[in-house]
Amino acid sequence: MTVPAVSSTLDLIGNTPLVLLKGPSEAAGCEIWGKCEFANPGASVKDRAALWIVRDAEARGTLQPGGTIVEGTAGNTGIGLALVANALGYKTIIVMPETQSREKMDTLRALGAELVLVPAAPFSNPGHFVHTSRRLAEETPGAIWANQFDNTANRKAHIESTAPELWAQLDGRIDGFTCAAGTGGTIAGVGMGLKALDPAVTIALTDPFGAALYNYYAHGELKAEGSSVAEGIGQGRITANLEGAPIDTQFRISDEDGLVWVARLLSEEGLCLGLSSGINVAGAVALGRQLVAAGKPDVRVATILCDTGFRYLSSLYNAEWLAAKGLPVFPWLAKA
Ligand code: PMP
Repeated sequence: MTVPAVSSTLDLIGNTPLVLLKGPSEAAGCEIWGKCEFANPGASVKDRAALWIVRDAEARGTLQPGGTIVEGTAGNTGIGLALVANALGYKTIIVMPETQSREKMDTLRALGAELVLVPAAPFSNPGHFVHTSRRLAEETPGAIWANQFDNTANRKAHIESTAPELWAQLDGRIDGFTCAAGTGGTIAGVGMGLKALDPAVTIALTDPFGAALYNYYAHGELKAEGSSVAEGIGQGRITANLEGAPIDTQFRISDEDGLVWVARLLSEEGLCLGLSSGINVAGAVALGRQLVAAGKPDVRVATILCDTGFRYLSSLYNAEWLAAKGLPVFPWLAKA
């Protein structure tokens, strides 16, 4: 099949390929499909949210020609916003916790974004990157605050693009979908979009440790346990994007279990991904097994391959970094 030619960079966002993951499918005893969001121009799932947020602000008239987009982000949304802004003639100011990967900071600077680094802090602290970005947006003339956590243009991107793409790519037959939540835009949006097409699809949240959503959906209480080094996921509150998300069931996945899939997908299938993708795949295997055990025939589960591993060469793919975090070192890195 030939991919169509497009007339704008922005048309390169979305319509990502879907790949059958062999190892995960064997492990689950059913089909596990990965949506290749690393194939977006900014190499992550967040290009979609960035485009929808900017288009929404233009439609509302809050973003004027030559204006500035300000956002607090773990990095990928900033990269998406910076490239969308460049394509449309806007400026970007990106506030990021200084704990995020070096590669994301370098990429943002390379894209021409103004980068503001703040110390990692709890959400209740006024210095948290989200609050800092809101204040900067208020202080900057002609600026809008993208507000990805509570701006539902984020999940709309997935209701209107990711979900119908998955549906079409799987010929209208999908039994389960799962992924982790950062803002919650992806899980809520894909969940809502798929449920509208087939209410029988099972939507599962895959939560890392250190996040509060697993306990919320399992027991009704926002409570975090443990910790995770995964970037871009792990939420402690019900964001506006998560409100009304159709979550049927939930899994909690450790970094170690996510890393097993990061290593296997790289060494066995040639896919170099970030840790949130490994955690998502572990969740998809768990969901697939559960649906198979419930007696469903020919089970098909989809998940999100959120971003490229090239964004984490100095962390996830670095033997010293892994060892310092007490995580297992990939055998081929230990040899180097
Ligand atoms: N994985 C990575 C690497 C991310 O950057 C993000 C975005 N924060 C997510 C997963 C989660 O996506 P969402 O914000 O839609 O929940």
